[in-house]
Amino acid sequence: PLDSIRSHMLQIRKSTDFKNRIDLHRSDELGILCKEYDRLLDHIALQEKSLKELNSKLQQESDTDSLTRIANRRKFDVFLNESWKNAQERQTSIALIMCDVDFFKPFNDNYGHLRGDQVLAAIASCLDKHLHLATDLVARYGGEEFVIVLTQTEVTGALRVAEALRAAVEKMNMPHSFSKCSEVVTISMGLSVCTPTTEMSTKAFINKADNALYIAKSEGRNRCKLAED
Ligand code: GH3
Ligand code: MG
Ligand code: MG
Repeated sequence: PLDSIRSHMLQIRKSTDFKNRIDLHRSDELGILCKEYDRLLDHIALQEKSLKELNSKLQQESDTDSLTRIANRRKFDVFLNESWKNAQERQTSIALIMCDVDFFKPFNDNYGHLRGDQVLAAIASCLDKHLHLATDLVARYGGEEFVIVLTQTEVTGALRVAEALRAAVEKMNMPHSFSKCSEVVTISMGLSVCTPTTEMSTKAFINKADNALYIAKSEGRNRCKLAED
């Protein structure tokens, strides 16, 4: 019996299947020892389960922006790289929308940073609510900048989404008496859409959206601008 118990223990240890049990039903000392060993395995299995749960919570937390509770820059980088590779392999279209809050410095200077933070959280949740597909992502890019990735989306679709998001933020009607383009908080957007080739990089793709955003700003803000080829 000792040999059989030993090989069973070895098998459990090697397979790391701690749900496995020795299950030796004997009323002598060996039986008691095995029961105790099985209890130890129960304990390990429970710890393994809570460790897995904790790990997934940590992963979720490390992908989330603490202020707005949407995806953070780290998550965006990973998501964009993966989506880019997929689009390259399948030769499908991918879109990137860069958003920036209009006249946000004067907003903070006049209403205070606390109210500014609330507005950022409200915009984030508005953008997030309007995107339904698991293949899309909205993330906080930096300070008062958000970024949206739409996979398998062509120019017409991307423009429609961007315009809907811009209008949704405007419709929230958050007063901004210090904006020079509206009475309420608004966002400007730059769009970049392409079917990636091997010569193109995500960096250039982001830059294109950023340049389009710059043009949207200079043309009066509270608008979407598509990057030109
Ligand atoms: P523009 O329309 O050209 O974008 O003007 P702007 O004032 O929005 O641009 P600027 O880049 O000068 O100002 C950005 C401001 O965003 C600066 C800072 O006060 C504010 N900001 C950035 N991050 C945060 C944040 O986490 N919380 C708050 N409350 N404000 C932030
Ligand atoms: Mg900015
Ligand atoms: Mg701004």
